[in-house]
Parts: sequence; C-alpha cells; structure tokens
Amino acid sequence: MELTKQGNFPAKTKDGKSVILCANAGNLQDIKNAVQYHIDGVGLFRSEFLYMENTHFPTEEEQFLVYKEAALLCGKELTIRTLDIGGDKNLSYYQFEKEDNPFLGWRAIRISLELKDMFKTQLRAILRASTYGNIRIMFPMIISLEELRMAKEILKECQEELNNLNITWDHKIEVGMMIETPASVLLAEDFAKEVDFFSIGTNDLTQYMLAVDRGNKKISGMYNSFHPSVIRSIKKVIKAAHDNHIKAGMCGEFASDEKAVLLLLGLGLDEFSMAGKEIPNIKYIIRNSSYENAITLAENVSKKSTLKEVYEVLSILS
Ligand code: PEP
Ligand code: MG
Repeated sequence: MELTKQGNFPAKTKDGKSVILCANAGNLQDIKNAVQYHIDGVGLFRSEFLYMENTHFPTEEEQFLVYKEAALLCGKELTIRTLDIGGDKNLSYYQFEKEDNPFLGWRAIRISLELKDMFKTQLRAILRASTYGNIRIMFPMIISLEELRMAKEILKECQEELNNLNITWDHKIEVGMMIETPASVLLAEDFAKEVDFFSIGTNDLTQYMLAVDRGNKKISGMYNSFHPSVIRSIKKVIKAAHDNHIKAGMCGEFASDEKAVLLLLGLGLDEFSMAGKEIPNIKYIIRNSSYENAITLAENVSKKSTLKEVYEVLSILS
C-alpha cells in the first residue's frame, strides 16, 4: 500500500501486533497538522513554547486555555510534558545564571522543583484542562526517586487545592516520566513502580549515555542512538516497564528512524511518538513488518557489542 494511503489503518504488523503511533507537538499548530495523519494521540506536547514565546511566565489561565484547546484538538491521549527549559532553552524575561555546562546544569525538573510556584501554576492549569480530554502528565529529566516523589507530592498539593475550591479535574489522570538519563535507565525497575508510563527520550539519553553533546557539530559523528549501550538501555527500560505492567513509549527522534523501527518493535516498544510528517512512513513500515521477525532481530541486535556489528545485523551501511 502506498504511503499516502496509510490513513485510518491501524499501526499493526502483518502478524497482528498493534502499537500506538503518536505525534510530537511543540505548539497548537503542530497538533492541528498532526491530526490529519490519523494519530493515536500526542505522545509529547512540549510545553516550553508557552514560556519561550512570551514576555512573562504564563499565568494559570493562559496555560489552561492552551492545554484545553490542545486536548480538544487532539481528541485522544495528550501527554503534556512539564516545562523543560535550561540547557539550550532560555527565557527572555528570566535571568539564568551563566553555567559552564548548561546541559548538565539547571534544567527541566530541577528548575520546576526549585521554582515551586511556577511549577504549581503549570500543574493546576494541566489538571483543570484534564476534564476536556485524555491528558497525561509527564516529568522531564528525572534522575532520582526523590525528584519524582517531590514532583508527585507537589502535584498532590495542587489536586487538593483544586478539590478545596470545588474545581474538577480528571481523577484518573496518568503520571509518567521521561527516561532520558543513564540514572533513570539504571533505576527503571524502581521508577516503574511509581509511575503510570515511561517515555524514552533518546535525544537526551544518547547524549548523556555517550557523553556526546547533541548540538556539537565537531563530535556529531559520535552521536549515535544505535550505539550498543543505548540499545541495551532501551531494552532494559521496556522490560522494566512490562515487568511492572506499565507501557513504554519513545518520543525521541530514534522512534522515527526508519532503520530502527523493526528493532524497536522487536524490543517491545508500546508507543512510538514522532513529528507528524514522519507518521505515514513509519506506519507503512510497521504495517509491512513481521513482529516475529522483529523479535528475532532485536534479540540478535541486543547481543552485539559494537556499533559495526549492530549495523551489520540491521543492514545499515556505515
Ligand atoms: C528527548 O530528549 O529525546 C526528547 C524528546 O526531549 P527534547 O528533545 O525536547 O529534549
Ligand atoms: Mg529531552
């Protein structure tokens, strides 16, 4: 079947294995564009744009209106990632201290946990919007159970505050985390007992696993998600998720790498999330794949110790 005719057909292999195929979105327009690809939802709604394209920290009302519209536009599962600034993403109206290693510095959940009022404003806005759709909350850049528990505790405070004001929110709202640090990979079994889902952020996971700056052109040749350490990390995280009866998704760009799809299928990835325009191609590949073959391939690839061997098994020309 041609790419353009993928339409409403499910992301299901020839031998009947279904996966969830979602879009990543960086603003409302991305969701509008993505729905034409018949997505199963939005697996990553990057909330940064609300903060970066602004002159002040967005208020609860401003955020609520955007999350509500996003939920209505999407009409299906909408995974809102809480603020992930720092690293290379700054705000014009907030003075960040200069850091020698911003990607190893004050970023993402670290900022949210410190600027607690700002975090609570965002969480309350998400909770209020949650009655308009199937919203999930996702925390970025987690490295410890302490951080996760603190974030969940703050979320609970927000829920209680809304209850006291008789403001409704979806009491079944799922709370998940991104797996994008080596620490979260190694502790995946423990994290899996305390969240409803994982989403693997291979863009950051690759940079932190390999100690290769994802934006540094001089070493871009070393930045490679097919590195055996990254593949084994993905395998471990999916297993930890399944052992604890939660789903493992991926919202890093590796999920839309056509050379990786079969491998990820075989490793048991439940949800693939990617830029909308990639969806027809990846769906086409999934629909023309055999899950049984994918499992054999993944078993084979995850035994390999060098990039060269991984490439050989996947027939990738280096
Ligand atoms: C990732 O790190 O893979 C990810 C999806 O997050 P971002 O690219 O926004 O850092
Ligand atoms: Mg990331």
